[in-house]
Amino acid sequence: MTKIYLASPHMSDEGYEMEYIQDAFKKNWIAPLGENVDQFEKNLAHMVGIKYSTALVSGTAAIHLALMALGVGAGDVVFCQNLTFSATVNPVCYLNAEPVFIDSEKDSWNMDPVLLEEAFQKYKPKAVIAVHLYGLSAKIDEIKQICEKYEVPLIEDAAESLGTIYKGQWTGTFGDLGIFSFNGNKIITTSGGGMLVSNDGAAIKKARFWATQAREIAVHYEHKEIGYNYRMSNIVAGIGRGQLKVLEQRVQQKRYVFQRYVNGLSSIPEIEFVTESNHERANYWLSAILINSTTISPKDVWKALKKENIESRPIWKPMHLQPVFNEFDVIGGSRSESFYRRGLCLPSDTKMTDEDLDKIIEIIKEVWS
Ligand SMILES: *Cc1c(COP(=O)(O)O)cnc(C)c1O
Repeated sequence: MTKIYLASPHMSDEGYEMEYIQDAFKKNWIAPLGENVDQFEKNLAHMVGIKYSTALVSGTAAIHLALMALGVGAGDVVFCQNLTFSATVNPVCYLNAEPVFIDSEKDSWNMDPVLLEEAFQKYKPKAVIAVHLYGLSAKIDEIKQICEKYEVPLIEDAAESLGTIYKGQWTGTFGDLGIFSFNGNKIITTSGGGMLVSNDGAAIKKARFWATQAREIAVHYEHKEIGYNYRMSNIVAGIGRGQLKVLEQRVQQKRYVFQRYVNGLSSIPEIEFVTESNHERANYWLSAILINSTTISPKDVWKALKKENIESRPIWKPMHLQPVFNEFDVIGGSRSESFYRRGLCLPSDTKMTDEDLDKIIEIIKEVWS
């Protein structure tokens, strides 16, 4: 029984990724930087519609440098989305700043603009980090408006939402800075990697400088600041160049998977899907559901799938429930707790066949019968 994954790397059928890697070998451009990095940065920026970008070792590194570019330091408050992966928040703690968690709204599960406004009555943050969870856009225009009103910069964690378009604009380009991830299970992958984007050229230049060990322009090694080794390698960027060519195809496949679940499970009224708004084209990175039942839990569905070697996952455990973030404040919290209790991410691998999807739907239906 071959395993069906939640989401796994999916290289192009055409072999674009390998061509760019081989090209780098031919030119002995294995390291450190080179054409693949330059082109990957340019092509992604062009695609999403932003001026500047820098390719990094991870999305987490991109968030770290975004916070640094905004001058976040020890003791500063940073508003963070509460329902997310811990990588959104960890860099805040690297800088000894203090995360304050903002709970979800009910439509997209992302940061609630009402609670954000409420949080501003209590704190003066240095930055706000909003996330587009599972590839569904946050109410990013409302969030941005509130940030502008209080003159606080916005970072968009678009790690999961490359390809999601909200009111005609790509997610990741609304904030002062945006980040993408190319980790192994994201919609496109470089095996591991990230990108920091902005229309602020100075911020990207500074981030690139920090990412290159903060090496001053000099033949000898001159350092005036602490730096990091965060740049993406030219081999890894070759995979990224190839993957970008199939991004739109992957979005369509993810959307197909989602629609197939919606249709296939429509006979079970206790299953509720988190769905794109009518202002948006979501990438549906993961198809996520809520189970509104007193007798069947997400764990029951997870177990039934696991027995057939099929991977599903609970939704992210909210940050305010994480032992490591115990000491930090949360505005709201009950909504994401309820999503966490009822939520499940269904297998969303783009390599699944129609037969795979039918089988998954049948297994889920059997849990109810
Ligand atoms: C994956 C992910 C990240 C981190 O990206 P890496 O490239 O794995 O460091 C950050 N935020 C969210 C919401 C993610 O899903």
